[in-house]
Amino acid sequence: MFKKEFRKYYEQASRFLSNDIGIDLGTANTLVYVRGKGIVINEPSVVAINQKTGQVVAVGAAAKQMLGRTPGHIIAVRPVVEGVISDYEVTEEMIAYLMDKAQKETKKMLGPRVVVGVPSAITNVETRAVRDATMNSGAREVHIVEEPMAAAIGIRLPIFEPVGTMIIDIGGGTTNIAVIALGGIVRSKNIKIAGDRLNNDIIAYIRNEFKILIGEKTAENAKITIGSALPRSVTETVVKGRDLVTGLPREVIITDADIRAAIAPSIDNIMEGAREVLETTPPELISDVMQRGIHLVGGGALLHGMNELLRETMKIPIVVADDPLTAVARGTGIILENLKLYKDVLVKNDDNLPQAK
Ligand code: ADP
Ligand code: MG
Repeated sequence: MFKKEFRKYYEQASRFLSNDIGIDLGTANTLVYVRGKGIVINEPSVVAINQKTGQVVAVGAAAKQMLGRTPGHIIAVRPVVEGVISDYEVTEEMIAYLMDKAQKETKKMLGPRVVVGVPSAITNVETRAVRDATMNSGAREVHIVEEPMAAAIGIRLPIFEPVGTMIIDIGGGTTNIAVIALGGIVRSKNIKIAGDRLNNDIIAYIRNEFKILIGEKTAENAKITIGSALPRSVTETVVKGRDLVTGLPREVIITDADIRAAIAPSIDNIMEGAREVLETTPPELISDVMQRGIHLVGGGALLHGMNELLRETMKIPIVVADDPLTAVARGTGIILENLKLYKDVLVKNDDNLPQAK
């Protein structure tokens, strides 16, 4: 009884003394959720660094603007590549910057409790790197959750029930596929083919077919505006690039069919990944998934025709989540509201950092 009361006061006191923050450290976008406020930061995962001084010049949208445009001594990098931290120091700087920015008006006495989403199937060493980076950025406690789990919680699927739930998260660097039941991930697969790959497919296709070199931003815009996984009414767009023969600027008109041809092999790979996960999923859970559908999250869920193509190939209903880009961040927020309830869905700690009480 006393213990319960004490925990209640401890909980209230710690909310007064420190913030609770959720971070979706995506390969393309980083979102920060502050308890009581919601999503306060939603920025591209890009950091610009001055190589002479080692200082961070810009983070997020401002740094993304600099990608491919920086003078010699400034480099713009994406610290999370294929779902894994590629540059530890830069990631730490980015997390520190974001945590600081998120708490600007509500700085508390103690460092925040932080829930961070990571791709499923990352190694212990990688998990450890995320934990350390967040701890070194000033967190008081760090809790790690696998992204498909966070996404399922974020879109309020019944993860604790004895029924199978399937999530496909098509992000920038990775596609995460998972089947969840009874509060745990039963099967999962993480493939390094997602939105970034589609952009590169488009760059390669336009180089081969039209002999012009376009930038990544141009490719992404084309994908978002006229791209599709299935035939649609003909749409076209103008892309500008550098003529590979003359070296001069040139523009060409491309259509939805061009984009489809460019991205088809990668889309097939994503389908194949989903099929592989289903093939090893226990039959009872498959039957649940067939009834309840596969839930699509991440930016790739917004690709025109993606849901219909999945439905046709898998013969399973597909549900595109509302606001699929924020599902993971919302999930970290829901976990923060009740760390005790979600204790067992968090990735087990590999050292002696404080655990959820
Ligand atoms: P991550 O979690 O890896 O940061 P996100 O879930 O934020 O990734 O998704 C980013 C990816 O989604 C990018 O590759 C982006 O191009 C893609 N994307 C965003 N909107 C659309 C859209 N409408 N159609 C197709 N792809 C999209
Ligand atoms: Mg993501």
